[in-house]
Amino acid sequence: MLYLMCTHPPNTSFNSWPNSPSNPSPPIKDLRYAYQIHTQLIKRRMAQHNPSITQILTHCIELDPHGSMHYAQLLFNQMLNPDLLIFNLMIRGYSKSSIPQRSLELFLQMLNHGLMPNNYTYPFLFKASTASSAQQEGQAIHAHMLKVGLSDDAFVKSNLINMYCSFGLVEKASQIFDKMTERSDIVVWTSMVSGYAKCGQIERARRVFDEMPQRDVVAWSAMVTGYVQGGHFMEGLELFASMQVTKFRPNEALLASVLTACSHLGALKQGEWIHSHIWKSNLGLNPIVGTALVDMYAKCGKIEKAVEVFEEISEKTLVSWTVMIKGLAMHGLAKECLSLLSRMEKEGIEPDGITFVGVLCACGHGGLIVEGRDCFRKMTQVHHITPGLDHFACMVDLLGRAGLFEEAEELIEGMPMAPDSAIWGALLNACRIHRNVELGERVGRELMKLGTQDGGHFVLLSNMYASFNRWADVSRVRKSMVIDGVQRAPGCSYIEVHGVLHEFVAGDRVHKDIEKINATLENVFREIGFLGYALDTREVLLGVDEEEKRKSLRQHSEKLALAFGLIRTNPKEPIYIVKTLRVCHDCHNFMMLVSLAYERTIVMRDRNRFHHFREGLCSCKGYW
Ligand code: ZN
Ligand code: ZN
Repeated sequence: MLYLMCTHPPNTSFNSWPNSPSNPSPPIKDLRYAYQIHTQLIKRRMAQHNPSITQILTHCIELDPHGSMHYAQLLFNQMLNPDLLIFNLMIRGYSKSSIPQRSLELFLQMLNHGLMPNNYTYPFLFKASTASSAQQEGQAIHAHMLKVGLSDDAFVKSNLINMYCSFGLVEKASQIFDKMTERSDIVVWTSMVSGYAKCGQIERARRVFDEMPQRDVVAWSAMVTGYVQGGHFMEGLELFASMQVTKFRPNEALLASVLTACSHLGALKQGEWIHSHIWKSNLGLNPIVGTALVDMYAKCGKIEKAVEVFEEISEKTLVSWTVMIKGLAMHGLAKECLSLLSRMEKEGIEPDGITFVGVLCACGHGGLIVEGRDCFRKMTQVHHITPGLDHFACMVDLLGRAGLFEEAEELIEGMPMAPDSAIWGALLNACRIHRNVELGERVGRELMKLGTQDGGHFVLLSNMYASFNRWADVSRVRKSMVIDGVQRAPGCSYIEVHGVLHEFVAGDRVHKDIEKINATLENVFREIGFLGYALDTREVLLGVDEEEKRKSLRQHSEKLALAFGLIRTNPKEPIYIVKTLRVCHDCHNFMMLVSLAYERTIVMRDRNRFHHFREGLCSCKGYW
């Protein structure tokens, strides 16, 4: 949500309101006023008076463009000789409407009228080409502009750079930027920063940002958002921290980006700081920032606080409701999810497909079979939402976990599209839980056929064979992993202590306190050993010998983070950990026993959901 507009478009206001000397510039707050003025113009036979029409058009465009372009077009159609200004207004209006391609049609119409475009025409043509993904047209218009000889305006250039980057032609954008002799305008630099970031060239984006002769809040926002959207959350937070020493105050778009980074990393303290900043600056909870806050609290483990903020948002959007539902689902609060869905329906907010992914996922985590089936039915029959792969995956997971294999298979067979690896993965997981090796093998073959690259699926399959002592099959699966080059994405864990975020990878050697951490970890293993803990090596992958397996398992990133938490937090204080992958059985068991031995609440988020470990138990009841 980046605001990349720059210098203002031409001043199009006229003071020639017909017959209104007592009120030289009457405000037009909605279309009704435009209608009144237009009626007056017709009565006075001034419907062809270009300056007056221009003023009405300007207001139509500045109102919600989705609602008013229709009226603007009606006015335009009645004009005998629309001038350049009027064409420019129409092109600009359509460029931000839901039918941006109309701008390009108007451009041709304009040329047919014998009018030559100027510096206020091209930027909106490039905007329209970007919005309608019209690459050929966009490039043709660029060529036209060069022919006309208009090319040195920063506003034009920044839109041109945005356009080429949106087409993925980053080198073309880069050439335009490099060739510019006059680069004092922040806007052009900012376009280049976001352009590189959008095309995944984050380091180049940062170089441009660092070279900027001066920066404004939009530039800072572009760089931070670039980091966050590219998944470089730590870097995003670090840059935001360095912005704090400048004179710039963050705008709402930037705050929402930073909150997204906090959500991913579980950086609760920093998220809370932003919340208090919003509160202190009287920014109010607009739906975007409010929803980002709800997401942050939910993903940082503070679900009650998320609910509190959700209730404070006065204008809840569909996204706000959906984020809240997904948050509740992550925390395994299935009943709460269902009641929020019915509240939403009562308040007349139409849920969409994403909302139902949240609800179905909650039913799966909560083992609510009947309710899950009902929701799936309601989604298609009442809300007329066509189920997608995500919905089918949730349902297969729900049915499979309950051991309803026939129903799950029927559902898969009846799917209008081919099942993907997430669906087969869900079924395979169910086969593992219920030790259904026959179906498991079949599902395994389907997964192999799809050429899945998800190491997790191979682990499931090989574990299933292992549990039946079918070692030849275990080794076959593992060999095929090596041949296919399947790897488990390197996971990491985050823990925030006194507002500082610490990152751990498995077998970490870089953290400055690693020796202390390892010593503490040894004590922890001894303590929980008294409670019956034994390493569970089933999920360790690939041809390492037993001793190596044990060693690597003891060094999983979440275990290191936990030990660090024990060192650096007060006794009895809850420990919050974020793990980027699904937590393994051994770490899950480890956390349960630590919560008992050390009388600590441990809140851990893994890729799928939250685990609240208390007194030796986990809130997920073994479903994850
Ligand atoms: Zn683990
Ligand atoms: Zn759990």
